[in-house]
Amino acid sequence: MLDREEVEKEAKSLLKESYTQKEKIKIPAQDMMTQDPDQRVLNMNEVALGYTPSQAILEANRCLQCKTKPCIEGCPVRIDIPAFIKKVAERDVEGAYDIISESSLLPSICGRVCPQESQCQKYCTVGKMFKDVDKSVGIGRLERYVADVMREQGNENLPKIEKSTGKKVGVVGSGPASISAAADLRKAGHEVFMFEALHKGGGVLVYGIPEFRLPKEIVAKELNKLEKMGVHIETNFLVGRTRKLQELLDVDGFDAIFIGTGAGLPKFLNIPGENSIGVFSANEYLTRSNLMYSYDKENSKTPQYVSKNVAVFGGGNVAMDSARTALRLGAENVTIVYRRSKEELPARREEVHHAIEEGVKFLFLHSPLEVCADEKQRVTGVKLITCELGEPDASGRRRPVEIKGTEKVFEFDTVIVAIGNNSNPLIKLTTPEIETNRRGNFVVNEDTMETSITGVYAGGDIVLGAATVIKAMGQGRKAAKAMNEFLKK
Ligand code: FAD
Ligand code: SF4
Ligand code: SF4
Repeated sequence: MLDREEVEKEAKSLLKESYTQKEKIKIPAQDMMTQDPDQRVLNMNEVALGYTPSQAILEANRCLQCKTKPCIEGCPVRIDIPAFIKKVAERDVEGAYDIISESSLLPSICGRVCPQESQCQKYCTVGKMFKDVDKSVGIGRLERYVADVMREQGNENLPKIEKSTGKKVGVVGSGPASISAAADLRKAGHEVFMFEALHKGGGVLVYGIPEFRLPKEIVAKELNKLEKMGVHIETNFLVGRTRKLQELLDVDGFDAIFIGTGAGLPKFLNIPGENSIGVFSANEYLTRSNLMYSYDKENSKTPQYVSKNVAVFGGGNVAMDSARTALRLGAENVTIVYRRSKEELPARREEVHHAIEEGVKFLFLHSPLEVCADEKQRVTGVKLITCELGEPDASGRRRPVEIKGTEKVFEFDTVIVAIGNNSNPLIKLTTPEIETNRRGNFVVNEDTMETSITGVYAGGDIVLGAATVIKAMGQGRKAAKAMNEFLKK
């Protein structure tokens, strides 16, 4: 494997002053360096190491600067992708950052975790020409490169704050929806208070997505930037318990409130044995490691469950994160149990690829029927049934159909359930007049993100159900725009 210097040297040797369209197509797609799989399962450090400067310029030159800009269609916040990539090709990283910042507040985060293959890069002309989305221009990687260079240079780019409006705004939660809303509300000159239930801000970016995919330092810097802008961040503040929503409005004098409380309530399969010792929701398993540092056995007060053979139920990003975390916590075998086949896995391609490289095993077309336990209620295995794929269901994916008589018990000592999350019901329970749908998500006016209560807005997973960082961010900004209008009245 080449080291960073060699990769940079090789990319530099391919650089030219300018390229014809034909030459652009011949530039090899630049791979991002990663930590070696054997090494990285022994640490929590970031797996993907980012482009070198010449790699970024080379990759940016693969962009054909299409007149119709199809890639922008695939970006939920409509970043002017060709324009920022052009700046990278011209070696103007600051110019590229300015263009990205017009639409996105968290490029170093989105560049890392956006499912680009199903968003911007899915629409890229280059990927379409090669009939391979992996050959699309590395839009997310370039976005990450730009944001990282700016951060490493210590360039914070604090935005201008408008003159005080005298209005007081509450933002509930501190995930990407709330971070974006708080920033835009503060920029407009309001006094902004952010209330977070946990002892640390960042939402899923901190307690869910592991350090090896998204270093916590990056999220901490974004929150720090909010504080420098003058946003007051109150942690250990559970809206619905510490203060009720109505109290914030009627007693504490908030003029408007944004709710970005996410979807943090884990779903279970409700199969026999699911209460046994050694069964975890992915939320608990990941929170113990990410937020409570249980992997740091010497210093953490939170113990880590010791496992040898781990089964993870589910096939999304949460399942991949749980499986890869289990390996890093010392499990010998980790198996993802998924009801459909590899083609239907909802996780990002890169995560599946990294999981396989690290030694995670997959049992496709298997569905859990029961968790088996010994007389002390400790997990000893899982009874699975084989499935085949039937007709497509409402999600468009082929439905798994159980094949009778194929039940079999597989030995495991730990089970992690990663089959999705619902929204937390606390605010609804303590504010019955707020309208929710049958899944418990807040119902909002799609143009303004206002809920059924005047002056109360919502966005992110609490509205969408478990979705993505960039969609949450987009909704936070949309709500802030409408709130700024509302507060002017
Ligand atoms: P959240 O990030 O969930 O933040 C909500 C915050 O509100 C939390 O901090 C919570 O503690 C707080 N809160 C809740 N109730 C209250 C209350 N009553 N009072 C005060 N505070 C409260 N998306 C991607 O795009 N790419 C990925 O690779 C990806 N990987 C993921 C991996 C995992 C393990 C998980 C769980 C999710 C992943 N997602 C990914 C989804 C993504 O993280 C979410 O869609 C996104 O974080 C939603 O943002 P949000 O701001 O709506 O809510
Ligand atoms: Fe692509 Fe996400 Fe960046 Fe938009 S924010 S350009 S979807 S990586
Ligand atoms: Fe560049 Fe691809 Fe967008 Fe065309 S579609 S402008 S090649 S990134």
